[in-house]
Amino acid sequence: MNFLLDKEHQAIFDKAKAYSLEYLAPITQQLESSPDLLKEKMKDLAEQGFYGLGIPIDMGGKGYSYLQMSLVYEGLAHGSGIMAFLLQLQNNINMEIATFYEGIAPEILTLVPDLACGNKTTAFALTEGGSGCDPSATEAYAELDGDVYRIHGTKDWITNAKDADYFNVMVKDGKDSKNMIILFVPANVPGLRSLENRERMIGNGMFVGGVEFDNCVVPKSNLLSAEGFKEALKAIDVARVFTPAIAIGVAQQAVDSVCAYLGQRESFGKPILTNQGVQWQVAEMTTKIEAARCLLYKTAAVMDSGEPVALTAAMNKLFATDVAMEVTVRCAQLFGAEGLMKSAPIVQAMALAKMLQVIDGTTEIQKIVVGRSIARQYLPRK
Ligand SMILES: Cc1cc2nc3c(=O)[nH]c(=O)nc-3n(C[C@H](O)[C@H](O)[C@H](O)COP(=O)(O)OP(=O)(O)OC[C@H]3O[C@@H](n4cnc5c(N)ncnc54)[C@H](O)[C@@H]3O)c2cc1C
Repeated sequence: MNFLLDKEHQAIFDKAKAYSLEYLAPITQQLESSPDLLKEKMKDLAEQGFYGLGIPIDMGGKGYSYLQMSLVYEGLAHGSGIMAFLLQLQNNINMEIATFYEGIAPEILTLVPDLACGNKTTAFALTEGGSGCDPSATEAYAELDGDVYRIHGTKDWITNAKDADYFNVMVKDGKDSKNMIILFVPANVPGLRSLENRERMIGNGMFVGGVEFDNCVVPKSNLLSAEGFKEALKAIDVARVFTPAIAIGVAQQAVDSVCAYLGQRESFGKPILTNQGVQWQVAEMTTKIEAARCLLYKTAAVMDSGEPVALTAAMNKLFATDVAMEVTVRCAQLFGAEGLMKSAPIVQAMALAKMLQVIDGTTEIQKIVVGRSIARQYLPRK
């Protein structure tokens, strides 16, 4: 067992952090409001080799481990949590298409090299207006009609829905079925229409909104999985490794920035950072971030080992995003009035931390997963 990053892993983190601080941090405001700039920077990320991370090398990807990927997203989040989020989402969906689905149609696999280098983009469509935390309330469905599936329904809150070339869509296997399936749906099928962007407090350069499937027809061979729930849980476990990585990068950057600021800014004739009351806050925040980082690297290691990860991943998501929320709020206070400026990076960091507490299973859902798992060991068996 080795708790320390070796040189190769450290270099992966350093490269991502340096890139994001130099090229993304200075334009975070513009990235908020300009979808075109955001797309241009996503292309830059592809050129820098940040795409296709989890896709095997022989399929055109980088063949990174979960630990290596975590380090990339943690590093990138120092300069832009939103770009780190969007990149990991793309990389996750693409890795899942390349490696998760047994018996996937060969025609779909031929698309993987284009996904691995960012030429084509994807979206994962699970959430609906009436089903967020509870996917069993899904209403969208697909019906098998000879050799094709006909898809009906509307998804909501789907990241990249307007620009995606392909969707992985989770629907019921028939109008009255309880079973869920995942279908691969090209964005250009007749009847598929993206709806309005959800105007949010963070990340509006990135489209997140509805998508309608009005009798969309795809070949039967576009079935990615007949066990939609099982596969969706696997996909969500992947996200629960990486959203914490982003949370940790954002939190660490908040502490780094506020220390740099308070090391210079004076009150009562001395730098504010010289006050013990401030240093104790820095100590508490840094300790919590380091603890979250240890849990992140452990979760990535469990994922890499192939051992069951759901419990560790839920604790990872719960802890890191709570730490990021707490740390960014405390840092905003330490920035004083500067921390209230609309354009202040700490304001974006707070909003991002809140977003990370909601996506990929809310804080409450993580507590349900962890709490049930522990309680199960002590409650009488039925
Ligand atoms: C920026 C962004 C991007 C997103 N991208 C995607 C995407 O690409 N694809 C996709 O499919 N979805 C996406 N989502 C949707 C996201 O996954 C959902 O918002 C999330 O699952 C929560 O669902 P909800 O918002 O409907 O909350 P609800 O289910 O309405 O829950 C509301 C509140 O009740 C709490 N709650 C619910 N049930 C319980 C319970 N049993 N016990 C205690 N508390 C409970 C929740 O934790 C939450 O605080 C995105 C969301 C955001 C904000």
